This record gives sequence, structure tokens and C-alpha cells, in this order.
Amino acid sequence: MRIVVVGGGVMGLATAWQLTRRGERPIVVERFARGHHEGASHGETRNDNNAYGDAHYLDLLALAREGWDALGEVDGEPLLRRHGLVSHGPGPALGAANRAPLAELADALTARGIPADLLDGAEAARRWPGMRFESTVLYSRDAGVARAAAALRELERRTVAAGGEVRGNTRVAAIAPDADGVDVVTDAGVLRADVVVATVGAWTEKLLGASGDAGPAATGGGVTRGGGLGIQPCWRDAG
Ligand SMILES: Cc1cc2nc3c(=O)[nH]c(=O)nc-3n(C[C@H](O)[C@H](O)[C@H](O)COP(=O)(O)OP(=O)(O)OC[C@H]3O[C@@H](n4cnc5c(N)ncnc54)[C@H](O)[C@@H]3O)c2cc1C
Repeated sequence: MRIVVVGGGVMGLATAWQLTRRGERPIVVERFARGHHEGASHGETRNDNNAYGDAHYLDLLALAREGWDALGEVDGEPLLRRHGLVSHGPGPALGAANRAPLAELADALTARGIPADLLDGAEAARRWPGMRFESTVLYSRDAGVARAAAALRELERRTVAAGGEVRGNTRVAAIAPDADGVDVVTDAGVLRADVVVATVGAWTEKLLGASGDAGPAATGGGVTRGGGLGIQPCWRDAG
């Protein structure tokens, strides 16, 4: 299957790598040069937070962990550094519509086999001197930070090693599905695909329109939009 991934941030490169693991040879088209700072994925690290109040996020966390484990180490160090995470304070938990007490988060993590300890403020202050904790603290030693820039390089390396391609400095101007597939119109010509995955982050509306639709309904080709929460088909018709 000819698959084009538009956007070479972490979502696009991770999508491409996962496709190669399924035997596909995707082409990633990225408008800027490798290592650029224009999107959201650059920088040395990103927090890997597991203190989520929503079961859906915890499901995604488990899926993501499989990926991080498969990526393993680069330069003798894991791409995911699990040095622990402390959550405290009265704010809403990530992903929660309402304020979930830390005890509930701890229960949810424990139920999934994720280490989670509740500490009182005094114990937390003893463990992490220099920080002031006024209330209960949730500590999970299973969280930490992802080595963001190194992960991007590794995802690209694995994609290319498996027969995929990453084309930088190539902007996609339009995605046009028709009866038999999809035209991906770039600055460097038109690519023909069976499926396009658009992972362009903040540029999504600009490229796909406010509805996320790639164009007029057609049959045959498929376009999916990848967001921060996963890949969701936004238009597909098997014809
Ligand atoms: C400052 C900051 C801090 C953050 N901290 C955390 C954190 O601690 N933990 C965490 O989990 N998340 C964090 N996030 C969120 C996380 O970084 C993003 O969710 C993630 O990087 C999004 O990746 P992406 O691939 O969807 O988007 P991007 O990285 O923006 O990638 C989109 C790519 O599409 C390309 N593109 C756009 N238009 C086109 C086009 N027409 N043709 C070709 N290519 C195109 C862009 O150049 C870009 O490379 C943070 C984000 C920011 C900005």
C-alpha cells in the first residue's frame, strides 16, 4: 500500500515507524528541515506524565509504553527516562473533566499495575528537600521524561532503515482524494498514495480545513488525521 504521512513531528515519525513495523514503506513529507524548531516536537525533553484521571488516557499510556519499550535505548540510555514523577496541589488531574483526588489517581494507576505511592507532605519534603508540599503527594516512579530530540532522530532512523522515506524541506500544499487514491500536492511535485495520514499538528486546519476533511467526498482513497490523542479517520470511503 502506498502511504504518505504529511508532517514529520513526533506523531508523523512515530506513525511512519509503526507502519514499517507492519511491513509498509511510508513516505513522510515534512515542510521544514530535520531538527527544526517550528513545530511542537523539538527540544531535549518532554514530560512523561502518568497521573491521568481518565481511563482513556491510561489506555493510551499503556499503548505508548509498548512503543517506548520497543524503541529501547539510544547511546546507552533509554529514550524514556523513568526517574519518577511527583504530583501535588489542588488542580485538576491531566485529562480529567473534574478534579480527581490524588487518591483516586493512585487507585487507578495501582489497578493497572503502575506503581503509585501516596505520601503526606512531611514525608515528601523529607524525600525532596527544597520543595514545599502542603498536602498529600502522589509519587509514581514509573514516569519521567522522554528524550524528545533523540526520539525523533531514532524514529526517522528506524523508518528509513526499514525502507521508508523522510523528505524534508517539502511542503504539502493540498491533499486531493479521488476515486482511486489520493494526490498529495507538494512543492516538489505530486505524490500518489492509497492512504494519507496527516499529522501536521497546529497546521491541521490550514491544510485540511476547519472540518478536518481533505476535500470533496470521493471513493477509493483514504485520508486520516493524526492528533495528539492518536489517529482518527476523518474521511474514508472504501468505494
Ligand atoms: C512548549 C511545549 C511543551 C510541551 N511539553 C510537553 C510535555 O512535557 N509532555 C508532553 O507529553 N507533551 C508536551 N507538549 C506537547 C507535545 O510536544 C506535542 O503534543 C507533540 O510534539 C505534537 O507533535 P505533532 O507531531 O502532532 O506536531 P508537530 O511537532 O508540530 O509536527 C507537525 C509537523 O507538520 C509539519 N507540517 C505542517 N504543515 C505541513 C505541510 N503543509 N506540509 C508538510 N509538513 C507540514 C510541521 O513542520 C511539523 O514538523 C509540549 C508542547 C509544547 C509546544
